[in-house]
Amino acid sequence: MGKNSARNHAHQVNRQITSEYSKGLKFLLDREEDQGLEHLIKLLEVSADSVDHYSTLATMFRRRGELDRAIKIHELLLKHPSLDEQQAANSRLELAEDYIMAGLLDSAEEHLVWLVKAGHEEALDPIITLYSQTREWEKGINMFEAHSELFTKAQHIKAIANFYCEIALTSEDHQIMRKAISLNKKAIRPLYELGLFAFNQQDFVKAIYYWRELINQFTFCAPLFIEELSLSYKELNLTSQFHELLLELIEKGGVLIKIKHCQALLEQGQNKQAFEFLTDSLKRQPTIRGFSFLLQLMAKQHSNNADVLDQIDKLVTAYISKKPDFQCQHCGFTSHTIYWNCPSCKHWETIVPARGIDGF
Ligand SMILES: [Zn+2]
Repeated sequence: MGKNSARNHAHQVNRQITSEYSKGLKFLLDREEDQGLEHLIKLLEVSADSVDHYSTLATMFRRRGELDRAIKIHELLLKHPSLDEQQAANSRLELAEDYIMAGLLDSAEEHLVWLVKAGHEEALDPIITLYSQTREWEKGINMFEAHSELFTKAQHIKAIANFYCEIALTSEDHQIMRKAISLNKKAIRPLYELGLFAFNQQDFVKAIYYWRELINQFTFCAPLFIEELSLSYKELNLTSQFHELLLELIEKGGVLIKIKHCQALLEQGQNKQAFEFLTDSLKRQPTIRGFSFLLQLMAKQHSNNADVLDQIDKLVTAYISKKPDFQCQHCGFTSHTIYWNCPSCKHWETIVPARGIDGF
């Protein structure tokens, strides 16, 4: 009898769930959202397990652009007493995402800040994106300084390093830039900006100091400043040191470093070595830029064919200029200029000089 009574009770509860669920869904489908949601929330009281169903429902509404509905569900969920801490945090995060999509950034910020204060690392991604969008660098930095223990991912620290850069650039306070460097040795931009600032001030010693450190660590970003770096050495009558640096970088560098090395050999009158080095590296790793430089070299050496070679090189150069110079490693966005904050995926420092056959 006991078993039967328990079974009957379970049966009753199930029936109640099913009936409320279908009522709620029917109202929603009929676009009577208030009544529909009310029924669904009643169901939530019957069974706390269905939190996942609501989240799915809200996600579906958001995906369809029905943000008011998604917001309503998440707000109701958040008020529900049966939610455990993680479920409540997830609902709050989702609600913030709804607000961001709806352009209600202040409301989104409020919830995200709440989450960060409560120690939820998962709120960092959206709030960093939000502050990047609103260019509220100070707020981001304050948040980092108050909760630095949450910033364990390189991507988040890189973002904060760039926030420091943004402030340093507007206030022209380069101490802040140094703060960014000490914060993260893996950020490219602080060293790059400090080098550029020194170069523009014609302080070539400092420019070399910063850029040399950068190029040794991140040889792939050489295209950003190699011309200016070469010029800095020239200004100080230290061109031979630049050539030595190129030699050190050849193995890990791309085609641009190899071309610069070739130019160094040519300057020293070692034409044969330059030609051999170039053809040899092109055999190992063919690239369009290397091929273009080879054409220029051949045009100089074989003056009777110079016209034809020039014509081919013009074609190749036109081809290169059509190709994007930079590409985001996170989302694949391509461009002709460097963006420190990817316009497409909003990640920091993921856009780098293009590689591969058309790249540097
Ligand atoms: Zn991107």
